Amino acid sequence: MAGIGEDIRVFFRGELLLDEPMSRHTSLKVGGPAELFATPADTDDLQQLLAWLRSRGLPWLVVGKGYNLLVRDGGIRGAVVSLERLDSLELVGDGVVRAGAGADNLELVRFALEHGLGGIAFISGIPGTIGGAIRMNAGAYGEGILERVERIVILRGGEVMEFCVEQLDYGYRRLDLQEGDVILGAAFRLEERDQAETEEAIRRDLELRRSKHNVGHPSAGSFFKNPPGQAAWRLIDAAGLRGERVGGAQVSTVHSNFLVNAGGATAGDFLRLAARVKEGVLGTTGILLEEEVRIVGEDCCHSECEVRG
Ligand SMILES: Cc1cc2nc3c(=O)[nH]c(=O)nc-3n(C[C@H](O)[C@H](O)[C@H](O)COP(=O)(O)OP(=O)(O)OC[C@H]3O[C@@H](n4cnc5c(N)ncnc54)[C@H](O)[C@@H]3O)c2cc1C
Repeated sequence: MAGIGEDIRVFFRGELLLDEPMSRHTSLKVGGPAELFATPADTDDLQQLLAWLRSRGLPWLVVGKGYNLLVRDGGIRGAVVSLERLDSLELVGDGVVRAGAGADNLELVRFALEHGLGGIAFISGIPGTIGGAIRMNAGAYGEGILERVERIVILRGGEVMEFCVEQLDYGYRRLDLQEGDVILGAAFRLEERDQAETEEAIRRDLELRRSKHNVGHPSAGSFFKNPPGQAAWRLIDAAGLRGERVGGAQVSTVHSNFLVNAGGATAGDFLRLAARVKEGVLGTTGILLEEEVRIVGEDCCHSECEVRG
């Protein structure tokens, strides 16, 4: 990969890291190395990088801040691309705010607030970027971010395309895209709101999360999706799995749908714990849980990783 790094640096203006441990870029603090970890300087830089990767037949994975990612211990082949520098926020009139994929969720809420706009405070406490939130249709309190999105800008096959959200297929914690698609940003339709009211909504949300979701260890938030009409944490509790542990990975004792890194966990520990939870819940309730966390990367080739737990 060192040679490849030199080839890319000929045109690439952003930051490039080789064999970069993904444990540094995920909230679970686990994951093997990405062959390349690239942070393009702007959209042109990103387009050139992807064209170059495509010409070499190298795969890429676009990430936000890694708050919903479990990277396997064998790491990621090809490139991980971070869009954190595409973080623009712009008021384009008539209650519409455009946000770059790398903008922080809370920054968007605060930017809207400064312009007397609201209706999106429910994403204040969801850690991560707009790109990640759109890809996941992140949400809280029964609302999903895509309900506030009017248009999404996607880089597909080297071309920048803009879609009305209705043209895309989405649902609870999912937006279906094509392989290789990169979300560049989105236009949000917001409502005029009293600033004090929005400030209070943000404060309440952050406070609620501090008190209820403070699990005291690294996590990716809810590990499993809530099955229709059910709360995953209740099913996990019903199976007696609160506090269950595999190696350094543990079902949080505070919130049983949070799997946490209680110290020194590997991705393998998380995968084995998740399998144990799914098996236990299926056996007790007949319901098969589905992961909300995105699991990516290669299995570890080292035998010592496989025997733990
Ligand atoms: C403490 C805690 C609380 C949480 N609470 C909530 C909650 O209340 N509600 C909720 O929905 N989630 C919650 N989460 C999960 C997480 O915050 C969200 O899923 C968030 O939207 C992830 O954003 P990210 O930028 O970190 O994305 P990442 O985790 O980096 O990526 C998530 C997925 O999106 C893809 N992706 C990212 N950016 C792009 C892009 N530009 N183009 C194409 N694909 C892209 C990635 O490949 C990956 O598949 C919580 C997590 C934590 C740690």
